[in-house]
Amino acid sequence: MLDLIIIGGGIAGLTSAFFAKKQKLNFLLLEASNKLGGSIRTKNINNQIIECGSTGLRAGSVIKEIIKDLSLEILTRNKKANKHFIYYKDSLYSQNQILGFKAYLDLIGKVFFRVKALKEKESIKEFADRVLGQEISEKVISAMINGLYAGDYSILSKSLFPKFLKSNSLIYFKKGLNEFTDSMADFIEHNNIKLNTEVLEIQENNNYFEVITKDLKLEASKIILAVPAYKASKIYVKYLSRLSEIEYLAVINIACEIPYKQAFENYVGFLSSNNSNTELLGLIHSSNLFKVNNKMILNCFLGGHKNPQIIQKTDQEIISIIKTELNKIYNFNEINILNIERWPQAMPQYKINHEDIFKEIILPKGLYLCGNYSKGISIEEVVRLSKEVLLKL
Ligand SMILES: Cc1cc2nc3c(=O)[nH]c(=O)nc-3n(C[C@H](O)[C@H](O)[C@H](O)COP(=O)(O)OP(=O)(O)OC[C@H]3O[C@@H](n4cnc5c(N)ncnc54)[C@H](O)[C@@H]3O)c2cc1C
Repeated sequence: MLDLIIIGGGIAGLTSAFFAKKQKLNFLLLEASNKLGGSIRTKNINNQIIECGSTGLRAGSVIKEIIKDLSLEILTRNKKANKHFIYYKDSLYSQNQILGFKAYLDLIGKVFFRVKALKEKESIKEFADRVLGQEISEKVISAMINGLYAGDYSILSKSLFPKFLKSNSLIYFKKGLNEFTDSMADFIEHNNIKLNTEVLEIQENNNYFEVITKDLKLEASKIILAVPAYKASKIYVKYLSRLSEIEYLAVINIACEIPYKQAFENYVGFLSSNNSNTELLGLIHSSNLFKVNNKMILNCFLGGHKNPQIIQKTDQEIISIIKTELNKIYNFNEINILNIERWPQAMPQYKINHEDIFKEIILPKGLYLCGNYSKGISIEEVVRLSKEVLLKL
């Protein structure tokens, strides 16, 4: 019998497996698809490194620890790329135009000092309106929430505050974000990993668990379930059916290339406010941040609460939307679409009742949950939680 089975080979499962390996446990990582990484997906398209899921990795302490253990080389961020924008109504506004540096510090200060005074069931919008005033709330906070969670800040929980204002430095790898997950997989060793192995069910049997797939029945004394909430709720209905209440919104990440334009070389990107006349949730000038390509590469994001039906559109319709938006916002005409990546269930929504769902879940001894639906959505938060869970076993 195994000490541990980890179900799901996204960054949550990989991090659990990384620390299980360090602890010399006898374990197996099961992944349903034919590759590891989950929402982290790098492609090489025409010799260019393209991020098709997550684009930004912020280096928290656990990520730094893994990078050090793996002796990975990280790329330093191009500091000249420093122009952040917000798209509000019909125009782009620089951070300074909307807020100014002093006001930005003031905003962070207000949020940090008043966060304890949050009302139990308050939405982010209610909190931001009350503490920061309606204008900043609508222009800045709704844009941040659109960009980071693809969600509607009037129904999302205050528990996301002030997480999204804290920021460690962005890091990157020469071969993209999958260099990080691939190196983790090499460390974990491939004989501890089974791809194309979808777990259908978990059953308990006295003091161990049976993990059932189409072809296998495996036994382990402990289980880490590192799959999205809507999957976990089906794998272990008896304990986890309430996880199906967590809604996930669709996002499409469209990578495109534009001819070099000096005027844009310091742009980081923009986030769009709720009250903005664009279909885009946000856009990143990825190639300005880390010089991996000599081209100008943009990652554009569509979907979320702004347009939940987007996932049903054809590639041609999506290309047409991107070209229209980039022309309207930046006056770009020559746009070469490199990749359209669809994430039908991309972002778990931390709604106002989010914490209640977890209060009512009682796990059997030996079963642990990790993933992006409980303690934070960013890779940094998921990695931190996954290490914590593994060390608790
Ligand atoms: C488009 C997009 C952009 C993002 N941008 C950023 C960003 O810039 N910065 C950032 O920090 N975060 C970003 N995120 C969020 C971050 O990438 C995710 O929250 C994080 O990667 C989730 O990791 P996870 O392991 O919890 O889940 P996932 O990555 O979803 O991995 C779950 C894994 O479980 C597997 N699985 C599912 N069911 C089963 C089963 N029954 N049996 C076995 N395996 C199963 C899946 O195949 C998958 O590989 C983004 C997410 C998306 C979708």
